[in-house]
Amino acid sequence: MKNIYSLSYAEALQFADERGFKPTQVTNIFRDIYKSDARSFDEMKSTKSELVNELRQEYYFHLPEIITITKTPDTVKYLFSLEDGCMVETVLMKQEYGNSVCISTQCGCNMGCAFCCSGRLKKQRDLTPGEMTGQIIALKDNTGEKISNITIMGIGEPFDNFDAVGVFLDIATNDNALEVGSSHITLSTCGIVPRIYDLADMPYTIGLAISLHAPNDELRSRLMPVNKKYPIADVIKAAKYYSEKKNRKVLIEYVMLKGVNDSAENAEELSRLLKGGRFSVNIIPYNPSSEDKFLRSEGQTIRAFYDILKKNGTAVTMRREFGSNVGAACGQLRSDRLKK
Ligand code: SAH
Repeated sequence: MKNIYSLSYAEALQFADERGFKPTQVTNIFRDIYKSDARSFDEMKSTKSELVNELRQEYYFHLPEIITITKTPDTVKYLFSLEDGCMVETVLMKQEYGNSVCISTQCGCNMGCAFCCSGRLKKQRDLTPGEMTGQIIALKDNTGEKISNITIMGIGEPFDNFDAVGVFLDIATNDNALEVGSSHITLSTCGIVPRIYDLADMPYTIGLAISLHAPNDELRSRLMPVNKKYPIADVIKAAKYYSEKKNRKVLIEYVMLKGVNDSAENAEELSRLLKGGRFSVNIIPYNPSSEDKFLRSEGQTIRAFYDILKKNGTAVTMRREFGSNVGAACGQLRSDRLKK
């Protein structure tokens, strides 16, 4: 048995075809679930009942369950429990341009970045596509808000669970399902190079964000073990391929760690590294957790870093902070809960 929220359009077409139903019936399945908000087979009113009965044989409805909700003026952060009790975080961010949801792709993470709390607790398992879709549906059901943007930037490394993320993208972008345009979706990776090329060769023109966090291999390998396998030059080359293929800028994420990667020299080096590519740096203030060996850079250090990039003609923005004042940033809800 499979969760119905994992069902891609292509898979549904095949399912219907094998049982002698027309493709229009597949449109009905998706419209029932995603547009009319059916939450059980009995509520699927437009799909032929014979086809609904076929679906019952192989699929079931299941959504993540809410454990806690943490609110700030512009965010709502959910800690969800999945079917087997695994926990993930999902965040609704209210932006000027609409509502953005940040979803998790794995329970925990194996990338082991030194500063990240998601990685302190090893990966328990990958999420299914339905558990990614489910985070959005459960959140929509709870808030009643419309979702215009998706960021695949929560707990986990999406390129370490790429097949499931691919199915999720199908459901997310389909006009009869979540109907979020490719240009309104951003995926963030620690830099698993072969998957950057794979994504570039897929039809989705989603935004790509790369967690760089350091301008040279020596420093990056200390912060992010993945760099030993895929060093900076290879990551930048793949990112350039992506930006040319999709004709859009690649976002370079840079979390500011006090005294570690925030010097003027680091900023100069970052500008040199990104020269000639279509990149935009997003400077992120670090959210320290309790018992953390890293600290957030001072405001003036962040400002100076920003100014150097600007002066060098490197495109740069500063991330607005979401949720950090309530201990609800970047995997903290889950890791606090697991400690209890
Ligand atoms: N694995 C993916 C996506 C998940 S992490 C990736 O590495 O990009 C999402 C972003 O949050 C990454 O840029 C990550 O480096 C950053 N991050 C992790 N812990 C953080 C913290 N405590 N404060 C600020 N940013 C953090």
